[in-house]
Amino acid sequence: MSADKPRSPIESGCPDGFQYIHPVMRKNYGQWKFHEHPKPGVLRHVAYSGDEIWTVRVGTQRILDIFSLRELCDLGDEFADGYIHFTIRSNVEYMVSDAAKVEPLIKAIEAKGYIVGGTKNSVAMLSHTQGWLHCDIPGTDASGVVKSMMDELIDEFRECNMPNRVHITTSCCQINCGGQGDIAINIQHTKPPKINHDLVSNVCERPSVVARCPVAAIRPAMVNGKPSLEVDEKKCICCGACFPPCPPMQINDAEHSKLAVWVGGNHSNARSKPTFQKLVAAGIPNNPPRWPEATAIVKNILKAYKEDAQDWERINDWIERIGWPRFFEVTNLPFTKYHIDSWRGARNSLNASTHIRF
Ligand code: SF4
Ligand code: SF4
Repeated sequence: MSADKPRSPIESGCPDGFQYIHPVMRKNYGQWKFHEHPKPGVLRHVAYSGDEIWTVRVGTQRILDIFSLRELCDLGDEFADGYIHFTIRSNVEYMVSDAAKVEPLIKAIEAKGYIVGGTKNSVAMLSHTQGWLHCDIPGTDASGVVKSMMDELIDEFRECNMPNRVHITTSCCQINCGGQGDIAINIQHTKPPKINHDLVSNVCERPSVVARCPVAAIRPAMVNGKPSLEVDEKKCICCGACFPPCPPMQINDAEHSKLAVWVGGNHSNARSKPTFQKLVAAGIPNNPPRWPEATAIVKNILKAYKEDAQDWERINDWIERIGWPRFFEVTNLPFTKYHIDSWRGARNSLNASTHIRF
């Protein structure tokens, strides 16, 4: 047996990020005077001390294999003072303290096949959830949707041609991660779950499944002499919340699980309140490996936004100015009965308006 004392585990969460920050950023933390945007994909920050730091942003496919990660780290070691940084939208950022290092860094990045961009009024990397790679409840592979769409939007990432920045998100189930983007591509189940009654009693904790349903559509039932569950299909809103605690309530379906596109979500900031996404296209085929139908709709929305919005308007600002009827006109998207909130609980949300009262 080794005489070395085993290393005790550290259970205190992730390590302090400061030690990994570029030394110029560490030194000038909270002391930045201004920043500017010399070209797409590059930012220049100037501190009160006179120090400067240049950031070069690079798109990735988010789910990175070890070879790509090593390559990206090698680029950081060789061209970017040994530092690398990931943004929440899965871009890599390199920082250098000398303007002369920027162009050689960009050249080396592009020589490896990566793209520089995603700053200011461009389409930033689509953010996405885990999909089939690690989660247990996806109805589609979010990372595949992202890859197909970014392949077609690559020029919008590289250049700054949009009225303001555009954040796009995807989500591979209908209830959890994903939301709040200028455009969101989310899974949409259109049929209630199918129950495998033989498995329910062994796999599911029935009270927690019943409690999980947001519209109280599930109740305990005896089926073929075994304890099981039943769904009131008139009430069910096909959200899929019962599937994670009870996999025998299968909601994913090759034909009936679709994609939907929502637009206009935005977090609050110092100047404006948050805005919530609204459904603009439903029933889009969940069509791997390239999802052409969903991509065409997103490109169409971006084209209309680019042509019609004023400078600095985010997608939600643009729609608020032109109105929803005009949005459907300029995007050529059909307005259908599925756009109307007909759920019985909608009475409350409609009553939030001063124009319609019940
Ligand atoms: S969106 Fe749903 S399926 Fe996808 S990673 Fe999040 S919880 Fe899992
Ligand atoms: S899909 Fe949603 S609404 Fe339908 S039974 Fe399951 S939890 Fe309830």
